[in-house]
Amino acid sequence: MPIGEGWDLPPDAAPWSSFHWFAVPVTGSLQLTVLSERPMWYVGHFHEQRMVPCPGQGCEACACGVGRQIRYTFAVADWETRRSGLLEVGQQNGLLIQSWCARNGGLRGMMLDLSKAGRQRQSRTVVRYVEQEAPAWAMGLDVPEVGLALYLTWQKSGCRVPEELRAAYEGKAKAGGSEQGGRSRSPRSRAGLDSVPARPHRG
Ligand SMILES: [Zn+2]
Repeated sequence: MPIGEGWDLPPDAAPWSSFHWFAVPVTGSLQLTVLSERPMWYVGHFHEQRMVPCPGQGCEACACGVGRQIRYTFAVADWETRRSGLLEVGQQNGLLIQSWCARNGGLRGMMLDLSKAGRQRQSRTVVRYVEQEAPAWAMGLDVPEVGLALYLTWQKSGCRVPEELRAAYEGKAKAGGSEQGGRSRSPRSRAGLDSVPARPHRG
């Protein structure tokens, strides 16, 4: 529906609506429910105040000796706005989340509380496990496709998109990036991009 009355937009009204990246606030905390069954990871470089993907072969940052970091990305739902979006954490917090999977019975439905260790945007993110059952409204949300979100985000910002990701999503993004492809579809393996590099969890 491309037109309507009132303030409540349908989830597909804006193509970017489910590709919102949640930022951990400097004060207070962000409470999220993980919607992904598995995370997606990528290798990145911190450049000009943000993470950019390492394109692999021929990477200028690698050639200059800029450190590489593992980043984990998830589809999540925000308790306050009850909207879905995306979350990215570093390797340390990613492995912490992985360690809670057994206790939680998997990644999907895990409840997390995220805050900053200090008062600055670049302060370390503290992730806590919340022992609580995932609400039905969150489990009923469409799951944003993490790979497509990364592709669109990086393409828009002019980054050199890793070749595997381009191959997997270029056609799809042209065909209409807003298509989520059905309800509750998990952002599962596309060209093996979301396999965890080390210590894969088992439920
Ligand atoms: Zn690199």
